[in-house]
Amino acid sequence: MPEQQTETGSGRHPRLTARIHHPQRARRPRHPGPALSDALTFAIAFIVVTIGIWVRHGGWDTIVAGSWAEAWESAGALTGLLATAVALIGIALAARTHRFERAIGLDRALLWHRWMGETAALLLAIHIITTLVAYSSREGLAAAISELTGEEQYMALATVGALGMLLITVISLGFIRRHLAYETWYYIHLLIYASLALAFAHEIFLGTDFAFDPLARAFWIAVTAFVLCLVLVSRWGRAIRSIVRPLTVLAVTPLNDVAATVELGGRNVTDLRAAAGQFALLRPLTRKLVWQPHPYSISAAPTVDRIRFTIKALGGASEMMTHLPVGTKVAVEGPYGTKIYEQLRGRKLLLIAGGVGIAPVRSLMEDFGPDAEPVVIYRARRAAEIVHYDELVALADTRNGRIIPVVGRTSDLADGNPFDPDVMQALVPDVAERIAVVCGSQPMIHAAFQCLRACGMAPADIHFERIWW
Ligand SMILES: Cc1cc2nc3c(=O)[nH]c(=O)nc-3n(C[C@H](O)[C@H](O)[C@H](O)COP(=O)(O)OP(=O)(O)OC[C@H]3O[C@@H](n4cnc5c(N)ncnc54)[C@H](O)[C@@H]3O)c2cc1C
Repeated sequence: MPEQQTETGSGRHPRLTARIHHPQRARRPRHPGPALSDALTFAIAFIVVTIGIWVRHGGWDTIVAGSWAEAWESAGALTGLLATAVALIGIALAARTHRFERAIGLDRALLWHRWMGETAALLLAIHIITTLVAYSSREGLAAAISELTGEEQYMALATVGALGMLLITVISLGFIRRHLAYETWYYIHLLIYASLALAFAHEIFLGTDFAFDPLARAFWIAVTAFVLCLVLVSRWGRAIRSIVRPLTVLAVTPLNDVAATVELGGRNVTDLRAAAGQFALLRPLTRKLVWQPHPYSISAAPTVDRIRFTIKALGGASEMMTHLPVGTKVAVEGPYGTKIYEQLRGRKLLLIAGGVGIAPVRSLMEDFGPDAEPVVIYRARRAAEIVHYDELVALADTRNGRIIPVVGRTSDLADGNPFDPDVMQALVPDVAERIAVVCGSQPMIHAAFQCLRACGMAPADIHFERIWW
């Protein structure tokens, strides 16, 4: 059992040594290319063209020189167009295209996806209010509501679509979302596709921007179709491919009372092009779990026919995953995760893990040689929670590294909180020269980030997974 803040670097795990020198490592992921700048250019161009369409149809002139009601209506038209444009960009961000995801990471893509969703909801609210103000200033509130919600069939469909978006916005509010199971929220939020489809006809056939301008209409339909194809091929295609070509559970090995390693194998492992430090969505093809893909980090560098995950039972699904029978089929979607290997190469590493956050750290260590001199700060509340200790020691031993377990509640730590800058400097004197990867709970990531900044580390040198669910 590791002692609190004991540095170590001895001992070797025979099975691990075989893995480290495995001659047939899985292929490395492809290089992502300049996906971020391409995507940003597309998004900005789309917004500019959208505003351009509105200006071309006299939107700006109406605001400046039109009557009060016309100005409100024109503002409503612009915010309606922008709400749809921003929603389409948000959907494209969640499409998980390989190049884009590898360039910026799924966490950032889904975070931006959420911001786009919030912005679209705000623009939609402004669109509804401004349009209602415009109509009611002409014919009164009751008549305006009636005309905008039901008199015209496309408006009735758009009203149902707007209600769908309202529902998604409400369930996504932090204090409501906290009370919902992840799956409940996730499947309800997919209503966005239906909502946009219902709103589509009123944009195309009723709005002045598309009804009388075939070029603008063709452009709008083309962009919508492009985003739809992106989602179908990339997002849903990826999920379907993983289900059609699942891996098989080869072994489930308990590590302690709550955690186990799950080893998956099969001919398709090499097609995943997975690398250490990445994660994948695991969807066991069993009656209870088939609707629940959960993210888990690769905990040992994949070989050509085997990939390993380390799973801690936190809730219902993860508990079941730690008891999967050998032979169970598991759809593995991904892998996801940025090109971290390229960013870390050539630098000395500081790897900070909390609890089961050790899984990606453990696999990452395999990818680096002695020049990385990895220092691993392994934070756990109880000694019994520490997993893969022998493997970590063996890896550190061959890489001029050190493992520093820090066990216990923060208030009980005899040698001080490792996320106190003075304690960190004492533990890792060259901390400012290193590049850090932090994996664990959000409070721990926050504490580690503040500490590393105070120790002089640049923000770009501190890598961590942002919360995205
Ligand atoms: C990038 C990433 C890598 C991870 N790697 C590991 C790992 O290597 N080992 C490990 O044990 N755990 C890992 N986790 C955490 C693991 O995904 C959750 O513990 C698991 O999804 C919990 O599901 P549950 O139904 O058992 O528990 P619940 O009680 O349903 O959920 C517990 C927590 O997990 C979140 N969660 C539930 N389902 C999902 C989902 N499908 N996607 C995202 N979050 C969800 C919930 O919001 C909640 O905060 C990782 C999470 C992320 C985001």
